[in-house]
Amino acid sequence: MIKTPDVVVIGSGIMSATLAVMLKRLEPRLRIQVIEATTDLAREASDGWNNAGTGHAGLCELSYTPTRGSDGRVPIGRALQIFEQFEHSKQFWGALAASQMVGEPRDFIQAVPHICFLSGVDGVDFLNARHAAMQEHHFFSGMQSTCDPTEIQRWVPLVMEGRASAPAAATMGVGTEVNYGLLARRMCGWLEQQADCEIASGWKVTHLQRDLDGWKLKLSCLESREVQLLRAKFVFIGAGGGSLPLLQSTGLPEFRGLGGFPIGGQWLVCDDPNICARHDAKVYGATPPSAPSLGAAHLDIRRLNGQRQLLFGPFASWTTRFLKQTGSWSDLPRSLRLNNFAALCRAGLHNRSLVRYLIAQGFQSMEHRIKALREFFPNARAEHWRLVQAGIRVQAIKRADRGAVYFGTEVVTPSDRSLAAVLGASPGASVAVSIAMDVIRKCQPELLATSDGRQHMKQMIATYDQDLKLVANKNLFESSTRESAERLQLDGRT
Ligand SMILES: Cc1cc2nc3c(=O)[nH]c(=O)nc-3n(C[C@H](O)[C@H](O)[C@H](O)COP(=O)(O)OP(=O)(O)OC[C@H]3O[C@@H](n4cnc5c(N)ncnc54)[C@H](O)[C@@H]3O)c2cc1C
Repeated sequence: MIKTPDVVVIGSGIMSATLAVMLKRLEPRLRIQVIEATTDLAREASDGWNNAGTGHAGLCELSYTPTRGSDGRVPIGRALQIFEQFEHSKQFWGALAASQMVGEPRDFIQAVPHICFLSGVDGVDFLNARHAAMQEHHFFSGMQSTCDPTEIQRWVPLVMEGRASAPAAATMGVGTEVNYGLLARRMCGWLEQQADCEIASGWKVTHLQRDLDGWKLKLSCLESREVQLLRAKFVFIGAGGGSLPLLQSTGLPEFRGLGGFPIGGQWLVCDDPNICARHDAKVYGATPPSAPSLGAAHLDIRRLNGQRQLLFGPFASWTTRFLKQTGSWSDLPRSLRLNNFAALCRAGLHNRSLVRYLIAQGFQSMEHRIKALREFFPNARAEHWRLVQAGIRVQAIKRADRGAVYFGTEVVTPSDRSLAAVLGASPGASVAVSIAMDVIRKCQPELLATSDGRQHMKQMIATYDQDLKLVANKNLFESSTRESAERLQLDGRT
């Protein structure tokens, strides 16, 4: 363990690994200590089956373009934002791959068609309007659209075979599938080789206390129960579901009233090679209005550890644990405080449809899940599918939100910027690079204040200080996206 680190990073998932690598590349003299509770690295939400591995870029997720505006057009601002954030991620990973820091890129990222599929007259009408709006922008100009059942069948045969005749539409763009856990472990592997950089696994941070010159952290070794104290000027809490209790332990007024409720996830998984060989896309459908960003079902090809499998879901499940590996049933009750109880109750009352949705999901039988699957894959047979537990999301509830529940990923910091934490799960891992940039801009701005610092950042994310959304930057977008595709060996097939 480093005696007096400049930075302590809690967790070894995609958020922490990304920030630690970015900091070390910006300032190689920084002493960085990573603390991870589990003995193996990045085994929580970032790990393979714990998430869907979608490189969220707004291509197929209707939650970023949920409705039409008053003029009948579909506003695409949120889709443009997530697309640009994912471009930053690809640039960053591409730069790491070009510097041989993360091994073979095909191991953790692959191109896959991102397809949005809707049926029924209203669905077709909406998807056409969405496509018309998106296609006008250079980010989405390559997106294809069709209402021709033969063409949709060519794209996604399993989705069309056995389907009752009804109007249907689909759009397709070139997206990605990412193994965020493997990528995080590769980044940690690089960190471990750097001077003044260490990873302590099997150590859990149990308490954070403000100190004159930064933070005092209490750590406990999960195996020996040994306790250690560590001091650092800056702390990043990238502990996923474990972030809320750590923020609460700071006692800072900024985090008073903060609460959260955990939502478990489940997938149906198919291993049958004959079925898996016939599906080569991520197909997203409509989002339930009560749970827009966590409820959109999708049928995906997954290629983890070189094996082809299909995933369908997510289904929400009940849990009181905040973490799958090191969590406990008492996580939720122990997070309740007098100052957050009212906010949690108000969130429940204001979001009754979400509560009903989660209750119904928790009561689902395998039969119900297969029925949901058949809306995507009409000929699916139950015996080909098994249920797998996915990761846990802890939905943050803030007093200031007055009962509203915001599904998003955000950085929270106290006013002195001596600490930063990530809350929320969606769009999550896909925007880890933007999150890390945000943390650096807010909490370590001096690293970008010099021309050297800006140059280092540009080597990692060439367009970090440009707005790729602007029409004037269309050529820059095209050249930068081509470069990351080459560096990441994305073949761009559709
Ligand atoms: C069902 C599901 C599907 C998802 N699908 C997608 C998707 O398709 N695309 C996408 O981009 N995102 C997706 N996400 C979100 C994404 O998985 C997360 O946003 C992302 O992995 C979070 O990364 P993280 O590093 O913050 O947390 P994690 O990966 O959970 O890492 C946190 C780490 O901190 C450690 N830790 C916790 N507490 C402590 C402590 N006190 N001391 C020391 N260590 C600690 C944990 O052991 C863990 O290793 C999905 C999430 C879920 C649950």
